[in-house]
Amino acid sequence: MFSFLVNNNNKGKRNNGQDPFSSEEVQTKSATLRGISSNMWWDKVRAGLSQRFNFEGIVSAVTVVARDRRLAVPHIAVPDIRWVDWGELKRRGVQGVVFDKDNTLTCPYSLAVWTPLVESLEQCRSVFGGNVVIFSNSAGLDQYDVGGVKKPAGTAEDIEKYFGCPSSVLVMVGDRHFTDIVYGNRNGFLTILTEPFSLAQEPFIVRQVRKLEKSLVNNWYQKGCRPTNHSLLSEAKKCVKDPAL
Ligand SMILES: [Mg+2]
Repeated sequence: MFSFLVNNNNKGKRNNGQDPFSSEEVQTKSATLRGISSNMWWDKVRAGLSQRFNFEGIVSAVTVVARDRRLAVPHIAVPDIRWVDWGELKRRGVQGVVFDKDNTLTCPYSLAVWTPLVESLEQCRSVFGGNVVIFSNSAGLDQYDVGGVKKPAGTAEDIEKYFGCPSSVLVMVGDRHFTDIVYGNRNGFLTILTEPFSLAQEPFIVRQVRKLEKSLVNNWYQKGCRPTNHSLLSEAKKCVKDPAL
């Protein structure tokens, strides 16, 4: 079964054995936390913005990337998770997988896995068993998770505790350079970038930031910027497959 690691640096909360896409738990948390928010106007504005736009995450990412651009470059890029050979990844040393949710597994704000990805996700779960979690920034929304941090902020400490192994043998899979990939690279994961599959439901500002991220990273790559070193990189490159074959 999945575990839904709501965010790191937040005491490693998770709902072992429960379906992460069940809205029940989220609604319960939301109801419990409703009304706790501060009266300060900035908290309210920030909460409203956070629901649609990870402003703090972008600021954090820009700060990190300004020091080392390589952190925004994924080790591997694929159209979507169907291109990943999960069994081969396991045979070559990977011990677990951390997924982003929106536009990696589900349409934005949806709780259901995008249908074409269901089979690949099931394969991943059958290969890695309980060592598959979802680490979603929407869990860092104030109404769900007061004080939680969002990618790329935070460390991998709670994730490593959960898996019982170092992040160097874990894969971070996500669709955003400045959140998922920066978080994964700066914490020692092998990083896999997927293409988003539903831009229509994304807020305008998120689409613009996504375009900017992609354009910047492509430009850096063309100028010779390459991903950070990773001990599993050469092995993992052999784990990309064409799902049509
Ligand atoms: Mg995403």
